[in-house]
Amino acid sequence: MKKIVLVLSILIFQNSIAQEKLDLNYYLPQDISYNADIPTPKEIIGHEVGEWHVTHDKLMFYMQTLAQASGRISIENRGSTFEGRPVLLLTVTSPKNHQNIEKIRQDHIALTESSGNSVSVEEQPIIVYQGFSIHGNEPSGANAGLAYAYYLAAAESPEIEAMLDKTVILMDPSFNPDGLQRFAYWANTNKSINLNPDNNEREYHEVWPGGRSNHYWFDMNRDWLPVQLPESRARIETFHKWLPNILTDHHEMGTNSTFFFQPGEPTRVHPLTPKINQELTAEIGTYHAKALDKIGSLYYSEENYDDYYYGKGSTFPDVNGSIGILFEQGSSRGHIQESENGLLTFPFTVRNQFTTALSTIEAAKNMRTKILEYQRDFYAQLRNEATKEKSIVFGDSKDGAKAWHLAEILKRHKIKVHELANDATIAGKNYKKGHSYVVPANQKIQDWSRLCSKSAPLLPTAFFMIFRLGHFHWPSMWTIPK
Ligand SMILES: [Zn+2]
Repeated sequence: MKKIVLVLSILIFQNSIAQEKLDLNYYLPQDISYNADIPTPKEIIGHEVGEWHVTHDKLMFYMQTLAQASGRISIENRGSTFEGRPVLLLTVTSPKNHQNIEKIRQDHIALTESSGNSVSVEEQPIIVYQGFSIHGNEPSGANAGLAYAYYLAAAESPEIEAMLDKTVILMDPSFNPDGLQRFAYWANTNKSINLNPDNNEREYHEVWPGGRSNHYWFDMNRDWLPVQLPESRARIETFHKWLPNILTDHHEMGTNSTFFFQPGEPTRVHPLTPKINQELTAEIGTYHAKALDKIGSLYYSEENYDDYYYGKGSTFPDVNGSIGILFEQGSSRGHIQESENGLLTFPFTVRNQFTTALSTIEAAKNMRTKILEYQRDFYAQLRNEATKEKSIVFGDSKDGAKAWHLAEILKRHKIKVHELANDATIAGKNYKKGHSYVVPANQKIQDWSRLCSKSAPLLPTAFFMIFRLGHFHWPSMWTIPK
């Protein structure tokens, strides 16, 4: 009995510490100053980061407030979810770069064009796209975004100024607004005034449908390739507009796990992902390891998670000359939960996500020219290979709509497609005008030629998911009549 009382006392004591001591300094580096003119999250949303699960409306309100307060941040709304929530994007860089942002974007894209070899990377900013909580019930990422955006707006030091001068950060604070809102409602509604870490607590058993998916219960971390949902369309548009060099995808995993960052399991990397991509991912990983060591958090890498299906956020960039990075934080699910590693508090999970968001931009700053050169070389090689490829024709003589929808998907990925001009018979197959499309070989488009011509290709994956493989004529590639 005494033991039970003692254990309960310790738990209550620890819980009260977790609640009472929480302030923004728990997350932020303390060796720099912060601009007092920038409002903290608590001043705007009424609670400390990690004290409650931030609702999407509060998250958006804070981001809009920061954009008004800081010359480093601009904000745009790229669409609307099925529940009418905005799909916001922050662009964060130095005020000087903001004056010139479209020129910076165009110069960056020029690096991937045929003129790329003559473009110097010495002065070019690196582009980093950071996205949070595509699974809405993996909330530490989006909640970390509050502290992270504050840091980007308010942190003051010569190093930060230098970083912002050479980096454009595209911050997507909530990849899944409707799911985040659904989960925040659940966790906050079922939170006890005295936090209860018992796994049986209702707070940790979200009812179906949970916040993982969007309004129509679609797992949006499978939609980077088919691009069927409004949230996906916004981010794929942003991706192709900027061709970022690094894209990070902040998730959560089981409560008994620690923290994972890519590279993933080496035997489960898609064969079309260049080896150097994985080497750069591993080098970036050394920054995460160092940062997590500094705050005493456990972590692991190169196991458990794959880097195979290009419809996921951390893999899609890898076939586009970018570097995709998956983060997985052991989930407290609610506000504090017992785990095999001890009590797992929500603020602790938020801090790990915050820390690795920071280590990502630290790596980007230090590896900038190397990563820009990698992207330039990637596209140069593709142009070289594209000259050897043939055009592609696809269609369905009985169902023109299927072919039309596939063409639409290709266009969302900026792949040029046009209708077949006349009926044609190619390799024994008949293609009807109005039911068939041509993908010309002579175009700049990420990795399409390699994907189409090698095994396990991207386009057939899209076929399979959307149109049922086998109903299309897709035996191989053909030269088509002009
Ligand atoms: Zn996830």
